[in-house]
Amino acid sequence: MYKFDVIVVGGGPSGTCAAIAAARNGARTLLIERYGFLGGMGTAALVGPWMTFHDEAGNQVIQGLGQEIVERLQELGGSPGHVRDTTGYVHTVTPFDAELAKMVYLDLCLESGVELLLHTWVTAAIMEGRCIKGVQVWNKAERQELYADVVIDATGDGDVAAFAGAEFQVGRSSDGLTQPMSLMFVLGNVDLGRVRQYMREHPNEFYEKTHFDLLEGEHLSVNGFYTLLRRAKERGELHLDRDMVLFFQTARPDQVTVNMTRATKIDATDAWQLTKAEIALRRQMMELWRFFQKEIPGFEQTYIVTSGPQAGVRESRRIVGDYVLQASDIVEGVEFPDTISRNAYPIDIHAPDGQGVQTINLQAQSYCLPYRVLLPKGIEGLLVVGRCISCTHETLAAVRTQPSVMALGQAGGTAAALAVQAGQSPREISIEDLQRRLRSQNVLI
Ligand SMILES: Cc1cc2nc3c(=O)[nH]c(=O)nc-3n(C[C@H](O)[C@H](O)[C@H](O)COP(=O)(O)OP(=O)(O)OC[C@H]3O[C@@H](n4cnc5c(N)ncnc54)[C@H](O)[C@@H]3O)c2cc1C
Repeated sequence: MYKFDVIVVGGGPSGTCAAIAAARNGARTLLIERYGFLGGMGTAALVGPWMTFHDEAGNQVIQGLGQEIVERLQELGGSPGHVRDTTGYVHTVTPFDAELAKMVYLDLCLESGVELLLHTWVTAAIMEGRCIKGVQVWNKAERQELYADVVIDATGDGDVAAFAGAEFQVGRSSDGLTQPMSLMFVLGNVDLGRVRQYMREHPNEFYEKTHFDLLEGEHLSVNGFYTLLRRAKERGELHLDRDMVLFFQTARPDQVTVNMTRATKIDATDAWQLTKAEIALRRQMMELWRFFQKEIPGFEQTYIVTSGPQAGVRESRRIVGDYVLQASDIVEGVEFPDTISRNAYPIDIHAPDGQGVQTINLQAQSYCLPYRVLLPKGIEGLLVVGRCISCTHETLAAVRTQPSVMALGQAGGTAAALAVQAGQSPREISIEDLQRRLRSQNVLI
């Protein structure tokens, strides 16, 4: 029988950090991932830049493993580190090279003693009453049962929690619709000098908070070109629910990642609907590339470097945990006794049924995430980290970004190791011990 202390399902930013943290804290840890590489949406859907490690005033609110990953990437030349966000939406963004990020995630796992099982899907939970004992997996060779004292669901979609019979919610409360999916793609051979020039000459065509004073020298993030986009849509050349051109310079000097395609009203846990979305999004990408070449100064000679191996999923299942994090908790910056991480990204809801983005800014500098949102109500032995934690549709729109889920993963992995060492269920561990351990590992609480 294959038995581990901790099994983490899903090698995205949250799951990779959970596995590293569990292993570093002494647990024999297995990380299971369906792809042949780690990084989740950041590498499998090319979602970037990391947004954000800082609050609006420029104070760093996420450190720990997330910061370690950034520094390792910088050493490899795979990230410039934290740079100002020239769109003005947040204080900093952290561009990263997806290929080198795959390597850094892998190196950190192996150096920490994490055992890996790639190319493997988790297809069921092994239950003893309401307690999870392990997972069933499927890969090319076989179906297998793998056991652990604690299982961490880091699938983004809450697959394991759903298999275990945990209660979950999907989408907004009014109609269950989720944020749209997007296929990200990278354009190469961009003349960013010409983009900057156009921006200086047409300031009214860009997001109102754009830092025109920072255009020189900073990594470029752009939100605008409103009229050019609107006219192309009016001419029937573009078929997408987007009212802004949005792109971010990657870690490379002449490449940008474009965040513009949109598939709405898709259930990301239904493969038939996912297929429909992938087809529509790939068509949108081709239309957009032509639009960029024809209309956007500096993009005339561009080519598609790569697109996400899969379209990015912003939202699917959210478990119902011991506490459901509310929008007011984060907007007002409510302090919790069981805080395990902080974040400062605002509520950023891409319209589930059309174009536009609704932003709800924070009244506080930053906000807290409590341990209880990782604990699915009524299930023992299971922790949930990342995008599928217990929160509302609005709250998810703030806590889902990658630096935030890295911190949640580190907390979940550390909690799992503590539970194993104490012979307790994750629900029973000492919060003071967990917080002490996290602080000693550079986590800001
Ligand atoms: C279009 C888009 C734009 C975004 N923009 C940004 C941005 O600019 N900056 C930012 O920081 N964040 C951004 N985000 C958010 C962020 O990328 C995700 O919320 C984040 O990656 C979630 O991390 P996670 O670890 O919870 O899940 P994921 O990144 O989804 O990782 C889950 C992992 O689990 C694996 N998995 C899933 N199910 C199974 C299974 N049953 N068995 C085995 N393996 C499984 C997957 O293959 C994947 O590797 C964006 C997201 C999208 C979709």
